[in-house]
Amino acid sequence: TQTYLTAIDAADALNAFVHKTPEIAKSQAEAADQRLKAGNAPDLCGIPLGIKDLFCTKGVPSQAASRILEGFLPEYESTVTTQLFDAGAVMLGKLNMDEFAMGSSNETSVYGDAVNPWRVDDRKLTPGGSSGGSAAAVAAGLCLGATGTDTGGSIRQPAAFTGITGIKPTYGRVSRWGVVAFASSLDQAGPMTRDVRDAAIMLRAMSGFDPKDSTSADLPVPDFEAALTGDIRGKVIGIPREYRMDGMPAEIGKLWDDGTAMLRDAGAEIRDISLPHTQYALPAYYVIAPAEASSNLARYDGVRFGHRATLAPGDGITEMYEKTRAEGFGAEVQRRIMVGTYVLSAGFYDAYYNRARRVRALIKRDFDTVFADGVDAILTPATPSAAFGLGEMADADPIKMYLNDVFTVTVNLAGLPGISVPAGLDAQGLPLGLQLIGRPWEEGDLLNVAYSLE
Ligand code: GLN
Repeated sequence: TQTYLTAIDAADALNAFVHKTPEIAKSQAEAADQRLKAGNAPDLCGIPLGIKDLFCTKGVPSQAASRILEGFLPEYESTVTTQLFDAGAVMLGKLNMDEFAMGSSNETSVYGDAVNPWRVDDRKLTPGGSSGGSAAAVAAGLCLGATGTDTGGSIRQPAAFTGITGIKPTYGRVSRWGVVAFASSLDQAGPMTRDVRDAAIMLRAMSGFDPKDSTSADLPVPDFEAALTGDIRGKVIGIPREYRMDGMPAEIGKLWDDGTAMLRDAGAEIRDISLPHTQYALPAYYVIAPAEASSNLARYDGVRFGHRATLAPGDGITEMYEKTRAEGFGAEVQRRIMVGTYVLSAGFYDAYYNRARRVRALIKRDFDTVFADGVDAILTPATPSAAFGLGEMADADPIKMYLNDVFTVTVNLAGLPGISVPAGLDAQGLPLGLQLIGRPWEEGDLLNVAYSLE
């Protein structure tokens, strides 16, 4: 723990940790030491972790990287962090992220950009987002694992950009209680780690039924690590033709082909498959996610949590809401709230929100059909490119940033488990990731296929 705390202090330039908790870390490490000595060490005994700022941690700033949660100290601990601590984990601090997990580059954070430890010359690169601090911290060796959350790709895309492993479990596998809500029907927490085995161990500790989350699944949690046999002979791997998009960079296509060849060499059966509604996933996501966000973020009213604007004499409650929300939320969050309230408004509800929900059902059906036909897992690229430069996309058309999620949002819309594993380097020497998508509740199988790609 001390080694990691020292490393974190030496890596301030990455801006990965936004709040350090050395006192908590030391007392948890001592408790872990006692358990170790007593001979009853749990799975994560003494393992130093970083926690994304989206998780509520008792008495520790939990701001979702937003100004509007300035000064908010939760009086409760999220289920995920409770379970991790019960399993012996040590919290080193809170990790940078995009504000309310809205973004793909960690550039919407009130704390400023997190920086990718991978560099090309002097060009500073994004670690991806929204779990950019988590990815940068694990990749730079500042912690052994980190929590992430994934609403449309926020675990898998930053994992790909930093050369680490990240899994978004099946919707309902991990409790959302105490995780600041973005889009509740899409949000899932998961581990971000150096390799697949660590992901399996950490995911098991995070998973399980929680009566405090009404969408949590009451299912047993398998030993995911035991599933890592490395044997994938006879598994059917689907290659969805719709993901081979126009204008896909040649090196992404090659990465995908190489990954396919590796799985074939390991004894898997490779099958060409079709997921016909793929092209509608991104527009559906960018209706549904803002709709849910606009509803979830209504609670930040200047009364119940965090920041409140200074009011002028004569200001009433309306001015308090307006001024607090105008200065508390950043530009991207305001854009999402406006899009969300628009698509939910009486005149447009059917044209946008209801239509997006129908598209979502079709996307899910595409997956159901291929799984029913015997496909065990689906292989795609994780991202359309390697990490881009900080500042290069943030001020451009927001749609350009949204296109980062083209391979990942389908998985959230369908509630499926998805994993990104490091799969090589691009021509500049930057990491690239491959994504595997699995059957619901079969994270063990999915991790095992990913393991065979390591
Ligand atoms: N980049 C996507 C968005 O901005 C996904 C974010 C996420 O998964 N939290 O909505």
